[in-house]
Amino acid sequence: MVNLEEQIKLLVELQGLDTQIFKLEKDLRSMPEEIKRMEEELKEKTGNLKKLEEGLKALQVKRKEKELDLEAKEGTIKKYQIQLYQIKTNKEYTALQQEIARVRADNSLLEEDIIKILDQLDIENQEISKEKGFLKTEEIRLTEEKKRRDEDAKRIEAELAHLKGQRDELIKKIDKSILPKYERIIKSKDGLAVVSVANEACQGCFRILPPQVINEIKMKNDLVFCDNCARILYIEE
Ligand SMILES: [Zn+2]
Repeated sequence: MVNLEEQIKLLVELQGLDTQIFKLEKDLRSMPEEIKRMEEELKEKTGNLKKLEEGLKALQVKRKEKELDLEAKEGTIKKYQIQLYQIKTNKEYTALQQEIARVRADNSLLEEDIIKILDQLDIENQEISKEKGFLKTEEIRLTEEKKRRDEDAKRIEAELAHLKGQRDELIKKIDKSILPKYERIIKSKDGLAVVSVANEACQGCFRILPPQVINEIKMKNDLVFCDNCARILYIEE
């Protein structure tokens, strides 16, 4: 003859262990996902650096272009200056001098542009080294976080092994006709098979229970299940 009162106590105890086991297993499962999420976050942050470096490259190209342009125009001025000696008429001389003045004006604009670009290059280089420093810190943080998670995982695994050992001992005491029912419910009901009754309501689904059901639970002749969520009901002493 099964002592139902004792069996229910054992089931409540088993539920307590299983609740801890379920929670720890869930924590363990979520860990690789969290690491992946953090790695993706870091990858996204490196995108900013890439953008800055591309901007810098474009600016350097622009600088080179302006410098080459300046060099070519300075060559033109030199050429014109040599031509000045070979000119015969006053009119031609004046025209060429005007042309030289025009190219010189162009050149001083180019020089101003180049100075602006150099200033901008300074600013962008500073931004890049700031961004690199930031990423370095983030990488260190991620490495430390991974290490911490690894340690957590080891601790959780050890705790799980201990709890499962306790569980194996406990289920030996549970009646062979009762245990399969419990195992079936816990699998289908998200790790919660045994629930208490409080304020006349099932604490699994919070449905109010009829007085007759509550009486049946109190009588402890047989397992009583919630009509709504099918979990095993008990009343806390
Ligand atoms: Zn219920």
